[in-house]
Amino acid sequence: METEAPPPQSAGAAKRAARLQTPRLKREQTTMVAMLRLYCADHHGDGNTDAEGLCNVCAELLAYSRKRLAACPFGPEKPTCVNCQVHCYGPQQREETRVVMRYAGPRMLLRHPILAIAHVIDGKRPAPPKPRGVNAAGAAKAAPPAEKAL
Ligand code: SF4
Ligand SMILES: [Zn+2]
Repeated sequence: METEAPPPQSAGAAKRAARLQTPRLKREQTTMVAMLRLYCADHHGDGNTDAEGLCNVCAELLAYSRKRLAACPFGPEKPTCVNCQVHCYGPQQREETRVVMRYAGPRMLLRHPILAIAHVIDGKRPAPPKPRGVNAAGAAKAAPPAEKAL
């Protein structure tokens, strides 16, 4: 039986996917998963989780953050999102992420000290200026907030 070939990936999508494989952005994803897992286990822990240990709500936030990371105009040179001058997150996801980080941040030092220290070092680097032509509001509009609460 013949298997159908996947649809061809656009050049932009391929570039975004490749970015997520760079060491810095891979580490950002690992940090986000670790923080969400800490938060999720203590707030939504009904045992119904996906392969990354997350409930549906947290998995949605992770998927959103990966999309934003893949499209980040700074690529592997990105500042920490909290220091960024673009702020591409929609208001709801930004607030949800802030809540997760406030809870998980102090716990990361004990549970994932290397990731936590790397994140602190990233946060010390000065944020690059906002690139010309990048519109945070447009980015937020492209990915509307989900209708749910963390
Ligand atoms: S908030 Fe800034 S650093 Fe974070 S993904 Fe968006 S553009 Fe990149
Ligand atoms: Zn959860």
